Amino acid sequence: MDYNKSKAFKNLYLKFAILYFLSDVVLFKACYAKTPSCVLLVSFDGFRWDYLNRGLTPTFNNLAHQGSKANYTINAFITKTFPNHYTLVTGLYEESHGLTGNHMYDPILNETFGLQNLEPKWWSQNGQEPVWITNQRQGGHSAVLDFPGMDVPFQGMFPEYQYINYTESIPFNDRSDLAVALLANGSVNFVALYFSEPDKAGHMYGPFSKEMNETLGICDKTLEYLLDRLEAEDILDKVNIILTADHGMTPVSINKTIYAMDYLNGTAYPYFTVENNPILGIWPNKSEHLDPLYEAMKKAEHVKVYKKEEIPEQYHYKNNVRVPPIVVVADEGWMVVGSRDFKTHYEWEKGMHGYNNSLLSMHPMFMSMVQLSRKEP
Ligand SMILES: [Zn+2]
Repeated sequence: MDYNKSKAFKNLYLKFAILYFLSDVVLFKACYAKTPSCVLLVSFDGFRWDYLNRGLTPTFNNLAHQGSKANYTINAFITKTFPNHYTLVTGLYEESHGLTGNHMYDPILNETFGLQNLEPKWWSQNGQEPVWITNQRQGGHSAVLDFPGMDVPFQGMFPEYQYINYTESIPFNDRSDLAVALLANGSVNFVALYFSEPDKAGHMYGPFSKEMNETLGICDKTLEYLLDRLEAEDILDKVNIILTADHGMTPVSINKTIYAMDYLNGTAYPYFTVENNPILGIWPNKSEHLDPLYEAMKKAEHVKVYKKEEIPEQYHYKNNVRVPPIVVVADEGWMVVGSRDFKTHYEWEKGMHGYNNSLLSMHPMFMSMVQLSRKEP
């Protein structure tokens, strides 16, 4: 394989790369006559970078051979799905785009965020917008097929094409059919396309299971179908394809779980927690209770406990009001939750992500086939 040996591709450059491909100044004016240049951004949720080394993904590896491939990308801390997908399409660290977790508490709004929350105040905290909106502002046309944030209005603007009443049950190949149809008939010049595997298999069976290997085969077939459809419409050599993911996956077990209540409830200082297992946020009810809660939590093993201001600079995470006063980060392979009541949520988990973004296991894959760099088969 003629792999690109660059050690890592920074996700943070991706938005700018997409805008570059979409701009009118690109030399390789491509795609359909109605649009100057097309980008198809595809995310396979939880596709850990080294899944490609198992000999189970011939279509992925062939695409990498024809285009270019980074060994992995360094994603953003925390290595969770919504925050990292939003980093992919905004080019911003989580402390800047404000989606600091799949679950968050905002002390200014005095509200809690969950995955179903589509109100713009959560998604444009600092006035940012995803690339599909930027594309439309520049006169382009966007389709967003299941990416997190697709159904959030930005100053009243939605992607021109999206699934209404999002449902995970839409078959992968149907998603590809729609993406290709919109590109082929010139309706759009940008598509963000999302597949929920291999993340689900990673959680359910772990990254080194036979079920994961079977799922990688399904992902490969999904990509093969997408490329076949592009070829059938005679646009495979006209679309700039970016293939990546939001995070990796590492094995876990419920037996390696830290429960914050075991350390904090004895202090008699009230608090509440925000779960992004294996990251836990602790919000003391009163600021003067921060120190005793912090000291109590520091007694736990297999976790790192930070006051907000102690969060390492390289995480680019501390500068947002939504980041809790105390942040607990589990060591790789461990989980951390607030209460033992949450045990049942995680008993079935064999794989997890969210950890320190410098861990190899958390890195996603990245490859692209842009028309300038395309190699002959
Ligand atoms: Zn996941």
